Amino acid sequence: MKKHQLKVQNSLTRKKEIFEPLHDGKVGMYVCGPTVYSDVHLGNCRTFVSFDVIYRYLKYLGYKVRYVRNITDVGHLVGDVDTGGEDKISKKARLEQLEPMEVVQRYMNGFHEMMTVFNTEKPDIEPRATGHIIGQIKMVQDILDRGYAYVKNGSVYFDTLKFAKDYPYGELSGRKIDELIAESRDDLKGQGEKNNPSDFAIWIKAEPTHLMRWESPWSVGFPGWHLECSVMSTKYLGKHFDIHGGGNDLKFPHHENEVAQNYGACDCAPAKYWLHTNMLLMNGKKMSKSDDNSITPQQLFTGDSKHVSKGYSPMTIRFFMLQSHYASTLDLSDDALSAAEKGYKRLTEANKVLQAMQPDPAAKAGDLDKEISDLIDLAHAEMSDDFSTPRAIGRLFELSAKINGLKGGQLNKKDLSAETLELLKTTFTDFIYTIFGLKDEDAGGSDNGVTDSLMQLIIDMRKTAREQKDWGTSDKIRDALKEAGVQLKDGKEGTEWSLV
Ligand code: AMP
Ligand code: ZN
Repeated sequence: MKKHQLKVQNSLTRKKEIFEPLHDGKVGMYVCGPTVYSDVHLGNCRTFVSFDVIYRYLKYLGYKVRYVRNITDVGHLVGDVDTGGEDKISKKARLEQLEPMEVVQRYMNGFHEMMTVFNTEKPDIEPRATGHIIGQIKMVQDILDRGYAYVKNGSVYFDTLKFAKDYPYGELSGRKIDELIAESRDDLKGQGEKNNPSDFAIWIKAEPTHLMRWESPWSVGFPGWHLECSVMSTKYLGKHFDIHGGGNDLKFPHHENEVAQNYGACDCAPAKYWLHTNMLLMNGKKMSKSDDNSITPQQLFTGDSKHVSKGYSPMTIRFFMLQSHYASTLDLSDDALSAAEKGYKRLTEANKVLQAMQPDPAAKAGDLDKEISDLIDLAHAEMSDDFSTPRAIGRLFELSAKINGLKGGQLNKKDLSAETLELLKTTFTDFIYTIFGLKDEDAGGSDNGVTDSLMQLIIDMRKTAREQKDWGTSDKIRDALKEAGVQLKDGKEGTEWSLV
């Protein structure tokens, strides 16, 4: 099969470019991970699922990939340092009377569990900011030595005006330094001890009550948030590496300042390609807790929310996420999820039919053979065009229609050669499992369907109990299953079960 050149939309150049790794056959990819001070939300999950597919596809293409995704466990402030912003993790620890590392561990565990539920692969390295304080102090010193930072009362600030004279500050986000200064000029109070409103802290002197603090040449303090990603990406991937990713809400100031720090410390640009995912919306609006327009992953699995009519399985949600391009907004709604559930079922059912199909001994490659080969080729071409999962899924649906036509007899198996049938089989398994990272949720397989049969029996017993209005028994069944880690979902087409 002809190989398609991979193209990626590079936020840095605002162009779709042919992907050419810096080192033949190898790819280094850094993605900004979560700040672990609260439960991971669905928006975060969307971003990490998107990069999981990108990681999987790069490996599928044969690259040896080193995927680094960090854990932010210090430095991410609520608000700005000049307005008295407190470290998010320190604040949570203070409010809940926990050790900061207890907060970190709790939410990091939760994040990892959620990543497993969504079947994402683990990164190759998952560095934590607190484990890289020495490297961060060194980078602050390097930036000071090169004259792009200054010390004020024990804190160190990046000098954006000085930097902008030598480098294109704002190149990534498109923000202009003059506009930034004008924007923040109205807010001189917020400038605090910085020389210029657009400067940002790279080392912050800790207040006496601040829980997380380290010795440094300037003060006992802690690093600025942007610094960790500059340090950890280059430590594990080199001064110049292939891909840097994250949600587009991070483009400014986080990523812009990361680029500035790298140039400031060593006169080199960190990533060749910057990839940005777009935001998850709900019912057309930004998902927001304060507007009562949000839903947790758990609520989405169980259906326990006014925003959905029933629960949806993790793989349905993953499929739903893949039905839009990573760089487009994704609007979560009950209707869209319900359509994704049907679509996902259609695809897996077509795959079951396909995998059981035997070639016709008298088969010859005819028109159908060509149509199917072309569609297979197109599916790969779509994926190679900036990882277009929605268009690749579209091609698989076109192929599913052919499979159903072969099964129903509208199409003739004599027109499909054994080679193309075999290729179609591997195409489906490659796309569904290896590239899209979907998995079978019926838990049958390994025990010859015994679990399925038992579950059907239990579901039927509960149905009978409910028909007889024996709520005690039906509730007992549901609760006992929940305890055993099995989730029941009642829908129009009956009750389904899944492992939670
Ligand atoms: P945070 O924990 O806020 O540092 O975010 C972790 C990652 O999730 C970052 O790459 C964010 O850009 C991304 N992210 C945050 N909110 C959303 C959202 N609503 N939709 C998609 N990605 C998001
Ligand atoms: Zn980052």
